[in-house]
Amino acid sequence: PEILPTLADVVRAQARDRAGMVAYEFEGRQTTFAELDDNTNRVANGLVTLGLGKGGRIAYIGKNSDVYFELLMGAGKAGVVMTPVNWRLAPPESAFIINDCMAPVLFVGPEFVDLARKIQGDLPHVRTILTTEGGAAEWPDYVAWRDAQSSAAPATPVGRDDVVIQLYTSGTTGKPKGAMLSHGNLLHMVQAEDRDNPASWNDWSDGDVALLAMPCFHIGGTQWGVNSLCFGAKGLVAREFDPGKVLDYFEQAGVSRIFMAPAALQIVVRLPRAAQADYSRLKTIFYGASPIPAALLRECIDTFGCEFVQVYGMTETTGSVVALPPADHLEGGARMRAAGKAMPGVELMVRGGDGKPLPAGEIGEVAIRSGANMVGYWNLPEATARTVDSDGWLATGDAGYLDEDGYLFIQDRIKDMIISGGENVYPAEVESVVCDHPDVAETAVIGVPDDKWGESVKAVVVLRPGGEATADDIIAFTRTRIAGYKTPKSIDFIDALPRNPSGKILRRELRAPYWEGRDRQVN
Ligand code: ATP
Ligand code: MG
Repeated sequence: PEILPTLADVVRAQARDRAGMVAYEFEGRQTTFAELDDNTNRVANGLVTLGLGKGGRIAYIGKNSDVYFELLMGAGKAGVVMTPVNWRLAPPESAFIINDCMAPVLFVGPEFVDLARKIQGDLPHVRTILTTEGGAAEWPDYVAWRDAQSSAAPATPVGRDDVVIQLYTSGTTGKPKGAMLSHGNLLHMVQAEDRDNPASWNDWSDGDVALLAMPCFHIGGTQWGVNSLCFGAKGLVAREFDPGKVLDYFEQAGVSRIFMAPAALQIVVRLPRAAQADYSRLKTIFYGASPIPAALLRECIDTFGCEFVQVYGMTETTGSVVALPPADHLEGGARMRAAGKAMPGVELMVRGGDGKPLPAGEIGEVAIRSGANMVGYWNLPEATARTVDSDGWLATGDAGYLDEDGYLFIQDRIKDMIISGGENVYPAEVESVVCDHPDVAETAVIGVPDDKWGESVKAVVVLRPGGEATADDIIAFTRTRIAGYKTPKSIDFIDALPRNPSGKILRRELRAPYWEGRDRQVN
């Protein structure tokens, strides 16, 4: 794609080059690039009329929708900051985000009108509420409001460094933090890819259909929709993740690319009809956002038969900054366990406690520097200073190592690392081995207090339907495949693992009952 400074410029360029082609399709409603340009001009002008200026914020609580992208890009044209709210949180937690970003204008999806009525009294900053698909007598409808605005290009000057979205982290390790991302952040990766890596495997064309099945309130969903815009592909927007519909979309809508978290892939690949479905149009599955057990990846490769790309990144790096290309997925080499290599435009370092880079093979904290590093956390100057140093390196909180060829192997989150008898144990590695047991559907590994060892390794296991393995069976199975100090000392069985909306296992919730009244030392 052309190197352009803002989302607004990208929308205008696509309207010029691909006017009548479909930018987004949502439940049968198609928006062409020309319409997207026109609609986003109206949104921008409407926001100005509502009193919003540069740096003002709007909040959106709704499921995925074409409206979401009109608001994001319309806000971008007016220098306004879009804040999508994670609706899968409990109401007070959603209210926390709306209040934290201080948005005076709130857009509400049809499923959340009742919620908005309920929490309205607790939202002191909100002056105006609009609904995105009708649904409330007391609040105006988005489409009617939008269409009443001028379609002239808005006059506000907006630049590459202006913040366009405030995306909250997933809240896996604590309270979600609002990462401020600029236009340049959102566009950095696609533009660097194109500029520095012309022979890339990441060769999208405007014939591509990108399925948006992950929530847009996470960077994975939003970045996927922005990439689709930049490449001129068709973004097929799914209201929410529905595994059966994902297969329908593969078969009937010509989906060529999709991004899915491992937890979502697991659900789709284990649907009874997944084995027989038609994947002939599917070119590439991108997966990431949490570690993937080796057995699940093999299962997906066998079933879908398409190209696979692993991506690693986080909200603070505007999503993917490391990728494992399709070629490294062939023939199940050792590289399959890697998260990948730094993508073009990204510098990667694994550093020790002294902040200096470690030699290949040594485990330390992963740090990242790129034009996609966030502007900072909203209203959290100390957390920002702890996370991004004065040279622009961003501390990821993830432990990992680089091999001789620059492949990054993610071990796990530093906060989840278990120290047992002085040895470091990374839960993801143990989980992957436990998952190889045929009776195990999924597992989470945690450290629990142990008088002798400090912490000991516990696996919390969900059995497959009909699975009969006992704790001793699983421990014996694991012991032959992994070092003794990594082998779980105990196993708990559970019906389902606690996960956050992006499917990440909430190990802190599993840990909590064991640590009640005690302090867990975190490195
Ligand atoms: P919070 O920061 O609020 O605790 P979070 O870190 O889960 O939540 P995100 O920004 O959505 O919020 O997730 C980024 C994290 O996801 C990374 O730091 C890493 O731990 C994990 N992750 C992302 N991609 C991968 C991957 N390919 N393999 C393993 N872990 C990954
Ligand atoms: Mg994080």
